Amino acid sequence: MKTLIVLTLSAACVVPAFSQGVGYTDTPQIRGQQWKVHDKERPNPPTVTPGATFSNGAPPPSDAVWLFNGKDFSHWTQGGGAPKWKLENGYMEVVGKSGNIATKDEFGDAQVHLEFATPSKVEGESQGRGNSGVFFHGQFEVQVLDSHNNKTYADGQAGALYGQWPPLVNAIRPPGEWNTYDIVFEAPRFDAAGKLTKPGYITAFLNGVCVQNRQELNGPTNHKATDPYKAYSGKGNLSLQDHGNPTRFRNIWLRPLGEHN
Ligand code: MG
Repeated sequence: MKTLIVLTLSAACVVPAFSQGVGYTDTPQIRGQQWKVHDKERPNPPTVTPGATFSNGAPPPSDAVWLFNGKDFSHWTQGGGAPKWKLENGYMEVVGKSGNIATKDEFGDAQVHLEFATPSKVEGESQGRGNSGVFFHGQFEVQVLDSHNNKTYADGQAGALYGQWPPLVNAIRPPGEWNTYDIVFEAPRFDAAGKLTKPGYITAFLNGVCVQNRQELNGPTNHKATDPYKAYSGKGNLSLQDHGNPTRFRNIWLRPLGEHN
Protein backbone atom coordinates (compact mmCIF):
# COMPACT_ATOMS: atom_id res chain seq x y z
CA MET A 1 0.00 0.00 0.00
CA LYS A 2 2.84 2.34 0.93
CA THR A 3 4.55 1.67 -2.39
CA LEU A 4 1.35 2.41 -4.25
CA ILE A 5 1.00 5.80 -2.55
CA VAL A 6 4.59 6.77 -3.36
CA LEU A 7 4.16 5.78 -6.99
CA THR A 8 0.95 7.78 -7.27
CA LEU A 9 2.53 10.91 -5.79
CA SER A 10 5.62 10.62 -7.91
CA ALA A 11 3.58 10.20 -11.08
CA ALA A 12 1.63 13.35 -10.25
CA CYS A 13 4.66 15.55 -9.50
CA VAL A 14 7.49 14.62 -11.80
CA VAL A 15 8.27 13.21 -15.20
CA PRO A 16 10.56 10.22 -14.61
CA ALA A 17 14.19 10.02 -15.70
CA PHE A 18 15.19 8.39 -18.99
CA SER A 19 18.00 8.78 -21.48
CA GLN A 20 17.15 11.09 -24.36
CA GLY A 21 19.65 9.40 -26.64
CA VAL A 22 21.76 12.54 -27.10
CA GLY A 23 25.42 12.63 -26.12
CA TYR A 24 28.64 10.78 -26.64
CA THR A 25 30.03 7.25 -26.43
CA ASP A 26 33.71 8.07 -27.08
CA THR A 27 34.46 10.28 -24.08
CA PRO A 28 36.52 9.39 -20.99
CA GLN A 29 35.08 7.75 -17.90
CA ILE A 30 34.24 10.23 -15.11
CA ARG A 31 36.34 9.41 -12.05
CA GLY A 32 34.30 7.57 -9.44
CA GLN A 33 31.22 7.22 -11.65
CA GLN A 34 29.79 4.53 -13.93
CA TRP A 35 29.24 7.10 -16.67
CA LYS A 36 31.37 8.66 -19.38
CA VAL A 37 31.50 12.47 -19.84
CA HIS A 38 28.24 13.59 -21.56
CA ASP A 39 27.22 9.91 -21.68
CA LYS A 40 24.51 9.25 -24.26
CA GLU A 41 23.01 6.52 -22.07
CA ARG A 42 22.94 8.48 -18.80
CA PRO A 43 19.36 9.04 -17.63
CA ASN A 44 18.20 12.64 -17.87
CA PRO A 45 16.79 14.10 -14.68
CA PRO A 46 13.05 14.08 -14.05
CA THR A 47 11.19 17.33 -14.74
CA VAL A 48 9.73 19.41 -11.92
CA THR A 49 7.59 22.52 -12.34
CA PRO A 50 8.93 25.16 -9.94
CA GLY A 51 6.70 27.26 -7.70
CA ALA A 52 5.78 30.78 -8.73
CA THR A 53 7.52 32.96 -6.18
CA PHE A 54 11.23 32.80 -6.86
CA SER A 55 11.87 35.19 -9.79
CA ASN A 56 11.60 38.59 -8.23
CA GLY A 57 14.65 40.79 -8.93
CA ALA A 58 14.69 41.62 -5.21
CA PRO A 59 17.58 43.55 -3.64
CA PRO A 60 20.29 41.49 -1.88
CA PRO A 61 20.97 40.98 1.83
CA SER A 62 22.86 43.82 3.48
CA ASP A 63 26.25 42.09 3.54
CA ALA A 64 26.24 41.05 -0.14
CA VAL A 65 28.29 42.56 -2.96
CA TRP A 66 25.70 43.57 -5.54
CA LEU A 67 27.71 42.56 -8.60
CA PHE A 68 25.02 43.57 -11.08
CA ASN A 69 22.02 45.70 -10.23
CA GLY A 70 20.94 46.23 -13.84
CA LYS A 71 22.48 49.68 -14.18
CA ASP A 72 26.16 49.26 -15.06
CA PHE A 73 29.10 46.89 -15.53
CA SER A 74 31.23 48.51 -12.84
CA HIS A 75 32.04 45.17 -11.17
CA TRP A 76 32.83 43.40 -14.45
CA THR A 77 35.56 43.12 -17.05
CA GLN A 78 35.94 41.37 -20.37
CA GLY A 79 39.41 40.57 -21.61
CA GLY A 80 40.83 43.32 -19.40
CA GLY A 81 38.49 46.00 -20.80
CA ALA A 82 34.89 47.09 -20.46
CA PRO A 83 32.29 44.38 -21.21
CA LYS A 84 30.79 44.42 -24.69
CA TRP A 85 27.66 42.55 -23.67
CA LYS A 86 24.34 44.38 -24.10
CA LEU A 87 23.01 46.31 -21.14
CA GLU A 88 19.34 47.26 -21.34
CA ASN A 89 16.12 47.26 -19.30
CA GLY A 90 17.87 46.14 -16.14
CA TYR A 91 19.56 43.07 -17.61
CA MET A 92 22.73 42.14 -19.45
CA GLU A 93 22.66 39.97 -22.56
CA VAL A 94 25.42 37.82 -24.04
CA VAL A 95 26.89 39.20 -27.28
CA GLY A 96 28.12 36.18 -29.22
CA LYS A 97 31.85 35.91 -29.90
CA SER A 98 32.65 38.81 -27.56
CA GLY A 99 33.84 36.37 -24.89
CA ASN A 100 33.06 35.59 -21.26
CA ILE A 101 32.72 38.37 -18.72
CA ALA A 102 34.22 38.13 -15.25
CA THR A 103 34.11 39.98 -11.97
CA LYS A 104 37.03 42.26 -11.23
CA ASP A 105 37.14 41.00 -7.66
CA GLU A 106 38.21 37.55 -6.51
CA PHE A 107 36.72 35.53 -3.68
CA GLY A 108 36.97 32.10 -2.03
CA ASP A 109 33.87 30.28 -0.78
CA ALA A 110 30.71 32.19 -1.67
CA GLN A 111 26.94 32.30 -1.86
CA VAL A 112 25.77 33.60 -5.22
CA HIS A 113 22.34 34.66 -6.42
CA LEU A 114 21.57 35.48 -10.03
CA GLU A 115 18.66 35.42 -12.42
CA PHE A 116 18.76 34.37 -16.07
CA ALA A 117 16.43 34.07 -19.05
CA THR A 118 17.13 31.97 -22.11
CA PRO A 119 16.01 33.51 -25.46
CA SER A 120 12.25 33.60 -25.97
CA LYS A 121 12.83 32.88 -29.65
CA VAL A 122 13.85 29.23 -29.61
CA GLU A 123 16.71 28.54 -31.99
CA GLY A 124 19.10 25.60 -32.23
CA GLU A 125 18.96 22.35 -30.33
CA SER A 126 20.69 20.44 -27.55
CA GLN A 127 23.71 22.44 -26.29
CA GLY A 128 23.04 25.18 -28.89
CA ARG A 129 19.92 26.50 -27.11
CA GLY A 130 20.32 29.30 -24.59
CA ASN A 131 23.71 27.97 -23.52
CA SER A 132 25.73 30.02 -21.06
CA GLY A 133 27.20 29.18 -17.69
CA VAL A 134 28.18 30.38 -14.26
CA PHE A 135 31.88 29.74 -13.71
CA PHE A 136 33.55 29.75 -10.31
CA HIS A 137 37.24 30.59 -10.36
CA GLY A 138 37.25 30.12 -14.15
CA GLN A 139 37.19 26.35 -13.66
CA PHE A 140 33.89 25.06 -12.34
CA GLU A 141 30.75 25.57 -14.44
CA VAL A 142 27.17 25.42 -13.24
CA GLN A 143 25.40 25.06 -16.57
CA VAL A 144 22.93 27.57 -17.97
CA LEU A 145 20.85 26.14 -20.81
CA ASP A 146 17.36 26.23 -22.25
CA SER A 147 16.55 22.73 -20.99
CA HIS A 148 12.82 23.18 -21.57
CA ASN A 149 11.68 20.38 -23.89
CA ASN A 150 15.22 20.25 -25.26
CA LYS A 151 16.91 16.91 -25.75
CA THR A 152 20.49 16.95 -24.57
CA TYR A 153 22.86 14.88 -22.51
CA ALA A 154 22.18 14.62 -18.79
CA ASP A 155 25.37 16.28 -17.54
CA GLY A 156 24.77 19.28 -19.84
CA GLN A 157 21.29 20.21 -18.53
CA ALA A 158 20.64 23.52 -16.77
CA GLY A 159 21.68 22.92 -13.17
CA ALA A 160 24.41 20.43 -14.16
CA LEU A 161 27.97 20.62 -12.94
CA TYR A 162 28.98 20.47 -16.56
CA GLY A 163 30.32 17.12 -17.72
CA GLN A 164 30.20 15.67 -14.20
CA TRP A 165 26.84 15.73 -12.47
CA PRO A 166 23.35 16.14 -13.95
CA PRO A 167 20.94 18.22 -11.87
CA LEU A 168 18.83 16.17 -9.46
CA VAL A 169 15.77 17.37 -11.37
CA ASN A 170 15.05 19.61 -14.36
CA ALA A 171 13.48 22.75 -12.85
CA ILE A 172 13.99 25.19 -15.74
CA ARG A 173 11.27 27.64 -16.71
CA PRO A 174 10.10 28.03 -20.34
CA PRO A 175 12.21 30.14 -22.79
CA GLY A 176 12.08 33.90 -22.13
CA GLU A 177 11.00 33.55 -18.49
CA TRP A 178 13.32 34.54 -15.63
CA ASN A 179 14.94 31.75 -13.63
CA THR A 180 16.74 32.16 -10.31
CA TYR A 181 19.95 30.46 -9.28
CA ASP A 182 21.08 30.33 -5.67
CA ILE A 183 24.46 28.63 -5.42
CA VAL A 184 26.88 27.89 -2.60
CA PHE A 185 30.41 27.30 -3.84
CA GLU A 186 33.08 25.78 -1.62
CA ALA A 187 36.50 26.17 -3.19
CA PRO A 188 38.96 23.27 -3.18
CA ARG A 189 41.91 23.42 -0.78
CA PHE A 190 45.50 22.40 -1.39
CA ASP A 191 48.45 21.98 0.95
CA ALA A 192 51.79 23.74 0.55
CA ALA A 193 53.03 20.94 -1.69
CA GLY A 194 50.04 21.44 -4.01
CA LYS A 195 48.22 18.27 -2.93
CA LEU A 196 44.42 18.41 -2.79
CA THR A 197 43.28 18.40 0.84
CA LYS A 198 39.58 19.12 0.25
CA PRO A 199 37.70 18.98 -3.06
CA GLY A 200 35.32 21.70 -4.21
CA TYR A 201 31.60 21.38 -3.52
CA ILE A 202 28.54 23.00 -5.06
CA THR A 203 25.04 23.30 -3.68
CA ALA A 204 22.55 24.82 -6.10
CA PHE A 205 18.89 25.79 -6.17
CA LEU A 206 17.23 26.50 -9.53
CA ASN A 207 13.95 28.35 -9.08
CA GLY A 208 13.95 27.38 -5.42
CA VAL A 209 14.38 23.68 -6.24
CA CYS A 210 17.52 21.90 -5.05
CA VAL A 211 19.41 20.64 -8.11
CA GLN A 212 22.82 19.99 -6.49
CA ASN A 213 23.08 18.85 -2.88
CA ARG A 214 26.62 19.71 -1.73
CA GLN A 215 27.93 17.79 -4.69
CA GLU A 216 31.65 17.09 -4.79
CA LEU A 217 33.42 18.37 -7.91
CA ASN A 218 35.66 15.77 -9.55
CA GLY A 219 37.99 18.53 -10.75
CA PRO A 220 37.57 21.40 -13.20
CA THR A 221 34.57 20.97 -15.52
CA ASN A 222 35.23 20.59 -19.21
CA HIS A 223 33.78 19.52 -22.56
CA LYS A 224 34.42 15.86 -23.43
CA ALA A 225 37.20 15.68 -20.87
CA THR A 226 37.78 14.87 -17.24
CA ASP A 227 40.54 17.05 -15.85
CA PRO A 228 42.40 16.56 -12.58
CA TYR A 229 42.55 19.31 -9.96
CA LYS A 230 45.49 21.67 -10.29
CA ALA A 231 46.69 23.50 -7.18
CA TYR A 232 45.78 27.19 -6.99
CA SER A 233 45.13 29.80 -4.33
CA GLY A 234 41.50 28.82 -3.74
CA LYS A 235 40.47 32.31 -4.78
CA GLY A 236 39.17 33.43 -8.16
CA ASN A 237 36.49 35.39 -9.98
CA LEU A 238 32.91 34.69 -10.99
CA SER A 239 32.41 34.60 -14.74
CA LEU A 240 29.55 34.17 -17.17
CA GLN A 241 29.94 32.23 -20.38
CA ASP A 242 29.59 33.45 -23.95
CA HIS A 243 28.42 30.32 -25.76
CA GLY A 244 27.02 32.30 -28.71
CA ASN A 245 23.40 32.48 -27.49
CA PRO A 246 21.73 35.76 -26.36
CA THR A 247 20.96 34.61 -22.82
CA ARG A 248 20.17 37.35 -20.28
CA PHE A 249 21.26 37.89 -16.68
CA ARG A 250 20.07 40.23 -13.96
CA ASN A 251 20.29 40.79 -10.21
CA ILE A 252 23.63 39.15 -9.45
CA TRP A 253 24.93 39.27 -5.90
CA LEU A 254 27.56 37.46 -3.89
CA ARG A 255 28.23 36.92 -0.19
CA PRO A 256 31.78 35.83 0.63
CA LEU A 257 31.58 32.97 3.12
CA GLY A 258 33.97 32.74 6.04
CA GLU A 259 34.91 29.66 8.01
CA HIS A 260 32.88 28.60 11.03
CA ASN A 261 34.49 29.49 14.34
MG1 MG B 1 27.59 26.41 -20.74
